[in-house]
Amino acid sequence: MTAPAGTRRLKDIVSELHPLARTLACKDTEAALKIIAGRFPASGNCRVETIPAGTQAWDWVVPERYEVREAYLAFEDGKRIADYADNPLHLVSYSLPVDRVVSWEELAPHLHFSEKRPDAIPWVFRYYDRTWGFCLAKKIFDSLPRDKRYRVVIKSEFQGAPAGLSVADAVLGPPPAKGAADFGEFIVCANVCHPRQSNDSITGVAVAVELAHRLAERPLPPDSMAVRFLFCPETIGSIAYLSRHPDLILRLRAGLFCEMCGTSEPLTLQRSIRDTHAVDLIARQVLTDAGRPFKELACREGIVNDELVLNNPGVEVPTVSLVRWPYDEYHTSDDRPEILSEDKLRETADVVENIVRTTASNFIPRRTSPGPVFLSKHGLWVDWRTQPKLNEAMDQIMLRMDGRRDVFSISKAVGLGFEETRAFVARFVERGLARALPVPRDGPLG
Ligand SMILES: [Zn+2]
Repeated sequence: MTAPAGTRRLKDIVSELHPLARTLACKDTEAALKIIAGRFPASGNCRVETIPAGTQAWDWVVPERYEVREAYLAFEDGKRIADYADNPLHLVSYSLPVDRVVSWEELAPHLHFSEKRPDAIPWVFRYYDRTWGFCLAKKIFDSLPRDKRYRVVIKSEFQGAPAGLSVADAVLGPPPAKGAADFGEFIVCANVCHPRQSNDSITGVAVAVELAHRLAERPLPPDSMAVRFLFCPETIGSIAYLSRHPDLILRLRAGLFCEMCGTSEPLTLQRSIRDTHAVDLIARQVLTDAGRPFKELACREGIVNDELVLNNPGVEVPTVSLVRWPYDEYHTSDDRPEILSEDKLRETADVVENIVRTTASNFIPRRTSPGPVFLSKHGLWVDWRTQPKLNEAMDQIMLRMDGRRDVFSISKAVGLGFEETRAFVARFVERGLARALPVPRDGPLG
């Protein structure tokens, strides 16, 4: 089912996932994860995992599943005003079951609308402080007679274990290198929750799936990290997943979270908690090289999501985030596939691909013998007539292969591109003249 490169549209998967009522844990969220798994390159072995409700997950508890059979607000004569069947946003997410006739005074505190977008249905959710409510366009709210009685029907159910919260994961690895060190994994995280909305947050899914196809088509070189993908409901999804897999946390060396990336606002990079880790420096460089205006913030200076989980103490995986936020349609029924630009999605995918490729294939070269290498003897001498810049830089590169700097900072120091520098350094590794060491989580280097 995989479309060839160049014909894939990032918007397709967004349009497919958009209609689903994707709350934290429910059948629609599980359906979304299955769609993602079906669209993922087969070599990634994308699989859905369900963690039972009530499972302790660090300081949190895995939520119950929430299913809605029917929900509507109607006049007493039965004419419906807001119906979950038309749009799941009409119901406050996680509303308790209700079946009553109420006065306007009783109803009004349970109705929500947006002053800023009077024609849109706002998205309202109450998970930990449970109540019930309906959301509607302000003009509908204003038109409702104050002297009438209203029928509220919410047939909802919270389901405990064995039902639970589902996530999907997948891993794409580089070809194995003989006797290579374990370079661990780079984690790419994207969210599936947010009922019937698009830019927030499933544009991140579209970018991650596109990245997976590009990595399957052009794998990372040997001596690179594997790339792990995690698709989950926000925050509690990554908490539940990581708490279930403590060994995995030790393997994760850096990460990237992406969402809200399909509109025309500039990209905002939020750095990791390490602030100057290789992934921070690489992300800034990639965005600078892309040549478009971008914003940059420190960790937790802007809108927050699963990167917060990854950057927190005890997990400590330096993780950046990329978003195009704020945008006007945020958390309303106006956040639809129609507001997304294929070009902007693709531009985000290009940036994400470059950040992930560079960070995951970055390593620390350490020479295995003292003094300068006899380059000609090893077939490593670079001809100044065909590769003048590399010829000029080769001594500078060799000088810096001291086990204390990563290839990215060497490439910056000598003014060459990352891929060209890495290819040259990798030839030393292939010949046993240098060892490739993983970049530690607590860089920086160089
Ligand atoms: Zn959101």
